[in-house]
Amino acid sequence: MSSAACIFCKIIKGDIPSLKIFENDKVFAFLDIQPLSRGHALVIPKYHGAKLTDIPDDSLTEILPVAKKIASATGAVDYNILQNNGRPAHQVVDHVHFHVIPKPNETEGLG
Ligand code: 5GP
Ligand code: ZN
Repeated sequence: MSSAACIFCKIIKGDIPSLKIFENDKVFAFLDIQPLSRGHALVIPKYHGAKLTDIPDDSLTEILPVAKKIASATGAVDYNILQNNGRPAHQVVDHVHFHVIPKPNETEGLG
């Protein structure tokens, strides 16, 4: 299920370009266009739904393992996984997405 008006559905279809990190039959991951830190990624279900409660469980089960692999691949020791639902909760794009936001390592920039 996808939505013709949704920018993340368009990204999944390739109608809007993105820097893709991972894709399988249920999950798509790409770099955030306005990163809060280097490597800031978004992991989304291919199934379109605005909020976590709109997404079937079988489309959600693979999200966290993908987020975990991406966080690990950045080399960051510390990171945030964020997922916003609704405008008061700071959701801007109404297609469920998990932010993976690496924190710069303390040693970064030294040497
Ligand atoms: P939200 O506030 O809804 O949790 O976060 C939406 C995120 O989507 C923001 O971090 C924003 O930078 C990102 N975003 C919005 N439009 C695009 C786009 O067209 N391409 C990419 N790669 N990221 C986008
Ligand atoms: Zn969508």
